[in-house]
Amino acid sequence: MEATIIKILSALMSFILALSSFFGIPTGNRIRNVIYMIGDGMGENHLAMTEQMYNVSLNMNTMPQQGYAMTYSASSMKTDSAAGATALATGMKTNNGVIGMFPDENGDLIPAKSITQICMENGLKTGVITSDELSGATPGGFTAHTSSRSNHEDITSQQIETGFDIMWGREDGTLTEEQVTEKGYVYIDTINEMNALTGNEKSYGMFTSSVYHTYNKNSYTPTLSQMTEKAIELLDSTSDKGFFLMVEGAHIDKKSHNEDEEGAAEALCEFDNAVEKALEFARADGSTLVVVTADHETGGVTLQDDGTYIMTSGSHTSVKVPVRAYSKTHYPFIENGERINNIEIPKKILEALGLSDVTFPCPIVD
Ligand SMILES: [Zn+2]
Repeated sequence: MEATIIKILSALMSFILALSSFFGIPTGNRIRNVIYMIGDGMGENHLAMTEQMYNVSLNMNTMPQQGYAMTYSASSMKTDSAAGATALATGMKTNNGVIGMFPDENGDLIPAKSITQICMENGLKTGVITSDELSGATPGGFTAHTSSRSNHEDITSQQIETGFDIMWGREDGTLTEEQVTEKGYVYIDTINEMNALTGNEKSYGMFTSSVYHTYNKNSYTPTLSQMTEKAIELLDSTSDKGFFLMVEGAHIDKKSHNEDEEGAAEALCEFDNAVEKALEFARADGSTLVVVTADHETGGVTLQDDGTYIMTSGSHTSVKVPVRAYSKTHYPFIENGERINNIEIPKKILEALGLSDVTFPCPIVD
């Protein structure tokens, strides 16, 4: 009798396993937390150049799932960071310069819900951190909706209305401390204030230094990896249903616009230090997915005949960008060598979180 029951149970188990693998559903593999890391301007050759220049092995290159994403926007083969971030945040292609909105068939811009907002509405803790201004295009795409990336006041004034738990970046003069605290956020502008946070409060960080590189660090501004480590600690310690954290390394793009190979590689190293913090947490936690990608490539980094890398452009290119994924339980995020469209990435993240019923565009209903 017992043997029969065991037989029936095991047959049932194999049937469920076969069904779930047929539908691509991972078993025993629930993702609770997502750390979504965007190296602004970071193409695949930036990684090779950095490893060669600084004789390092990048943490992101140890991530077991490695594919590529196409980055073209609705208006150009060469996206900018606004359309790139909007694609990565809302699952919609939009025109260059547009934040969190997409053109309908008449060309009218329609606001689309960001993955940050979708995660918050589903009970996850949420954070957006960047090594540059929070009013910049990349954090903007995850937190705001506006027709132009240069509407900086518009972007930050929307951010303090969102209710997201953590938003930290560089001070840009668009908000006063009073405006931030009025909306229920703790205003921080030093590393000590950041480290003193306990997670029971929502915080808006405007750090006063213009540089986040390790080589030029002052004593009161955190590096991106320090911000990442602290943000993970805060979100994790207060979450019931998991958390979503977006981390932007902004300076790879900025240095690449100047065709500054060494500067870009150095910025990439600091971004990779932040990746290391995310991976350390994910290895210990077991239910965290880390995704590393870029909004576009900048600089046209190419290998020369002498075996070294050089930048061939001072602007954005259409080169595909890396997509890297890690989770302790091998959640199947991307196949090795697979090429996907950048708008598939937020969709895949929501699927990993069990939110696959969300479809893009996800409309904003008042
Ligand atoms: Zn750029």
